[in-house]
Amino acid sequence: MTSHSKLSNLDDLVFDNRFIRELPADEETINHRRQVIGACYSRVKPTPVMNPKCIAYSREVAALLDLHNDTCEGDNFTQVFAGNYLARGMESYATCYGGHQFGNWAGQLGDGRAINLGEVINQQGKRWALQLKGAGPTPYSRTADGLAVLRSSVREFLCSEAMYHLGVPTTRALSLMLTGESVIRDMFYNGNPKAEPGAIVCRVAPSFTRFGHFQILTARSDIPLLKKLVDYTIQTDFPYLGEPFPDNYLRWFTEVCRLTAEMIVHWQRVGFVHGVMNTDNMSILGLTIDYGPYGWLENYDPNWTPNTTDAQDRRYRFGNQPQIAFWNLGQLANAIYPLIEQIEPLLQAMNVYTETFEKGWQDMMAGKLGIKAFDSATDEKLFAELIALLQLVETDMTIFYRQLAKINCDIQLPMTEADFNLAFNYLSAAYYVPEQINASYKTHLHSWLETYSCRIQKDNTSNADRQLQMNKINPKYVLRNYLAQLAIDQTEQDDFSMIEELLTLFQKPYDEQPSKEKFAGKRPDWARQRAGCSMLSCSS
Ligand code: AMP
Ligand code: MG
Repeated sequence: MTSHSKLSNLDDLVFDNRFIRELPADEETINHRRQVIGACYSRVKPTPVMNPKCIAYSREVAALLDLHNDTCEGDNFTQVFAGNYLARGMESYATCYGGHQFGNWAGQLGDGRAINLGEVINQQGKRWALQLKGAGPTPYSRTADGLAVLRSSVREFLCSEAMYHLGVPTTRALSLMLTGESVIRDMFYNGNPKAEPGAIVCRVAPSFTRFGHFQILTARSDIPLLKKLVDYTIQTDFPYLGEPFPDNYLRWFTEVCRLTAEMIVHWQRVGFVHGVMNTDNMSILGLTIDYGPYGWLENYDPNWTPNTTDAQDRRYRFGNQPQIAFWNLGQLANAIYPLIEQIEPLLQAMNVYTETFEKGWQDMMAGKLGIKAFDSATDEKLFAELIALLQLVETDMTIFYRQLAKINCDIQLPMTEADFNLAFNYLSAAYYVPEQINASYKTHLHSWLETYSCRIQKDNTSNADRQLQMNKINPKYVLRNYLAQLAIDQTEQDDFSMIEELLTLFQKPYDEQPSKEKFAGKRPDWARQRAGCSMLSCSS
């Protein structure tokens, strides 16, 4: 459609609430916590809030829904996306899912503080599901309150949009509202509960279906409903796979394996650590979902996780994410096994995960280094040596790759001391502890840079071309934990300007943006041990 009219009234959004129309509802309609059997969702209304205020909204996500900016700046928008009332066509509900948390089956989890508002069909015919996070209790809230605090809502809002612009598959965020009410949280579960401002994010995605939606049905031996949900998912979220029939179940699972692998390659590319890769936090569409205690690698450390709840085992550490995604796919395979009843083809599909990840990772690493095409004869060793090098001294991953793009590879080999010193000057911007740089480190680096330059020369790539290519895949700006924390601190003081500034900055994370250089720097020393900057918990 070329003529595109922007909606000035939320009541003009066109809803087609297929999830609740085609799947069975919980018969119980009173909102109390319970096990919900034989149904995919429960109807529940958001809890009204006292004094909602719009902190920010994403103009781009509004545009996906055909919403006019004026509409998003009006009071009606604030009221609807803070959960005070539903616009025409909205039907609110919470869905039922289960999951493995930290490797253990946890039974029913469900949308404990997420309330879906329905699915918008935009003017291009694209389906966008809307979901409020933090809009009050649902039948799935277990012992918790169904609410969300400002700090975690700011983090979800900014990160969803930043990830999208980094090219990482993700759920999006339409709006960030203050509720005007406070929420009690014990941030580190250490007996220090405190009142924090409550907030609500409206998430937007083609669908919010998770691995756990399938798992809970199999765990309850509800195979007819499992089949129904799989058929529904193929028809709605994977229409390009054709009609759902048993042969297609395997094609579908293979596709989930492929999409998941692609997502993980992106996470490893930009240094994103999800922090809670439980199976209930895995999207069937391979989207990054549930931004909780996530973080960004600053100094390159494969063992790092921002999640203090996982500090002991580090199950969800950066370097383990590819294995965990595989494990989670194994759980999904178990869940759909009753529909397939053969192990071998499921294992073959999981091989597609491994192959897609390995190939994707090699291509991605080649891209990060400005190599035209991965060549196993030389590049496996080159990558492995680089990864070792990045850990020898504390090295900022993001800055390192951007600076590497600047060095001169068009040099006489073997690399002279003078050429090495020039390259080293660029790279030194990435080191956290200059005292760690000793002669042995410099020897390693010299040798690696020499091999690297030789490899680039083999490709015959000019410095300028290499820099251009590398800067398209290595971001200049990522949502460093301390940046999110500064934005939270200011927002808590009623100053929303940094949210706006970061939202705009992260729309072009690969551009130099010279006036924003201060956001590209290393994590400052004060942030090393500060809560919210280096340590986060699931409490949000
Ligand atoms: P998470 O670890 O945030 O993915 O959440 C795991 C489960 O706990 C999901 O079912 C969530 O909906 C639920 N949950 C997390 N926080 C809350 C909360 N404040 N109120 C109700 N349910 C919650
Ligand atoms: Mg979750």
